[in-house]
Amino acid sequence: MHWHAYAWVGHERPADNIRNDKSQPTPPLRVGEWLGKPERFIVAIFDSTPEGISDALEWMRQGAEEHVYVSEASFPLDARLKYVAEQLSHNGRAGDVVWGYYSKSKRYVSRALIACTCQRKARKPAPYLEGPHGQ
Ligand SMILES: [Zn+2]
Repeated sequence: MHWHAYAWVGHERPADNIRNDKSQPTPPLRVGEWLGKPERFIVAIFDSTPEGISDALEWMRQGAEEHVYVSEASFPLDARLKYVAEQLSHNGRAGDVVWGYYSKSKRYVSRALIACTCQRKARKPAPYLEGPHGQ
């Protein structure tokens, strides 16, 4: 079992018809539909070892530090990451993690870790890039 990592940043939350389009890198309306997106949108694959989970948390942190949550003061990053860690390891029942929020720089930021059991191998993200961007 592992997680596929997906990232998207745009000027606003995409319209539903765009989100429903599997060929778009935008966050889908239903979380499970991430796995039906083309392979090229997978930023990284993190396995469920302690190292894999640690790498997944670091990837979420990097994205959040680059695109700071508009309400950071009311729900600080460390608290959000604690929640992510619980989602990833809760009693061995791995869950999905989905973030969709507006940043202080007025971008809509989507970042997701989706649990999966396909045959793809774990792989780290490329040296940190922002990930696929919207228009
Ligand atoms: Zn998979």
